[in-house]
Amino acid sequence: MKNIVPGSIEVRHKMKIAINGCGVAGPTLAWWLQKYGHEPVLFDQAPGLRTGGYIIDFWGTGYDVADKMGLVASLKDDAYFIKHVRTVTAGGFTASSLNTSAFHDFTNGRYLSIARSDLSKHIYQACDGIETHFATSVTDIQDQGDKVRIELSDGRQDVFDLVVGADGLHSHVRALTFGPQEQFEKHIGFYVAAFILPGYFPRDELAYVSHTRPGRQISRVALRGDQTLFLFVFSKKFVTEQPVGEAAEKTLLRDIYGNMGWEANAILSRMDEVRDVYFDRVSQIKMPAWTKGRVALVGDAAACVSLLAGEGTGLAMTEAYILAGELQRTDGDYVAAFHAYQERLQQYLTRKQEAALKFAGFFAPQNWFWLVARDVMMNLTSVPILGKKLLAGSFQSDLDLPSYDMPLNPQRQEMDN
Ligand SMILES: Cc1cc2nc3c(=O)[nH]c(=O)nc-3n(C[C@H](O)[C@H](O)[C@H](O)COP(=O)(O)OP(=O)(O)OC[C@H]3O[C@@H](n4cnc5c(N)ncnc54)[C@H](O)[C@@H]3O)c2cc1C
Repeated sequence: MKNIVPGSIEVRHKMKIAINGCGVAGPTLAWWLQKYGHEPVLFDQAPGLRTGGYIIDFWGTGYDVADKMGLVASLKDDAYFIKHVRTVTAGGFTASSLNTSAFHDFTNGRYLSIARSDLSKHIYQACDGIETHFATSVTDIQDQGDKVRIELSDGRQDVFDLVVGADGLHSHVRALTFGPQEQFEKHIGFYVAAFILPGYFPRDELAYVSHTRPGRQISRVALRGDQTLFLFVFSKKFVTEQPVGEAAEKTLLRDIYGNMGWEANAILSRMDEVRDVYFDRVSQIKMPAWTKGRVALVGDAAACVSLLAGEGTGLAMTEAYILAGELQRTDGDYVAAFHAYQERLQQYLTRKQEAALKFAGFFAPQNWFWLVARDVMMNLTSVPILGKKLLAGSFQSDLDLPSYDMPLNPQRQEMDN
């Protein structure tokens, strides 16, 4: 296996690091660790990289990290440059409209929409030669002080210097190391479901079209290859018991959205064709510490901001970049690196989580008053100056990405000599 890639930096204290989860944070972390001369090994419970799935908006510091990794050109190849976000009435008439050119203005054009699976694919494809085990996950972690012994779902055992959980909202590494998810999960009061259908009409190219009733929204986005993505966001008041299994999830969607108006019945009537429904609670993860001993968490596993932030992938990449960078800066002093990782990001991510909560009303306002208010606000975004003011808060970032392409920590070098 190749550990040093062209342009990589030789570390004196090379570490073997297990990363559980090959979504967005996992391969980003692996890429940077490999660049710094470490030996990352990726595990994912899925049989291969996931395909399809929902579309994400990608911008902010995550975009900057992708740029540093040389990924932006390939991301653009698979991106969608959505032009309008539109809400429609039950009869299909436009109720409000938001021109996304403002998003591009705020980000200097550094904004795109892409399938989460395509983002993950491009990051992973850049992880040239990194040892990866799909259909395999970390099932036990024994931190022995000087090493970590892990057990894998295929029965194997292995020893690593560090273990990182990049295994998403329902992280197993977090459960094994920090305890049950309930301690850290803040359920925001919504559920989300998504699926893709071929040959759906109408399409409305490069537009995000949605119909909302109090507590429930249904949206569609036309994708390439005659596919359409449907996204459902609904209040937990419609859910007496979380459904288990795809059949139960489809039944619940039919119960909630049947007779909702607009295209709901046409969409639901084709749900039997769908084999892969994404369904989950909308939650945030709030933890006092993301590291314990030789184990760290990154991405949604550590500090999920939820879909309401519209920035979870970018933040996951930012966390991965900073975690790897701090391990590089401290040259193997993982205690100092873990401390710096948390110091740099905790308040920033807390602010992002708080800001995200303000968007709950956008997806599924709880009553008609807030629904109309949401549409009025959306229309006001097209008013010059006022529109900029309304949207500015959503794009603010007070995090400057540190640069880690530096020689070894001189103090550490002296200690070693
Ligand atoms: C509907 C929806 C819309 C969203 N919209 C946006 C958006 O517009 N913009 C944005 O930036 N973000 C958005 N997000 C959030 C974004 O998808 C996440 O924040 C991001 O994917 C987190 O990356 P991650 O690598 O931490 O976790 P994930 O992307 O969830 O990856 C986790 C990986 O871990 C693997 N895994 C899970 N459990 C185990 C296990 N036990 N063992 C081994 N492997 C395991 C999974 O297979 C997966 O590959 C949205 C989320 C949803 C649900």
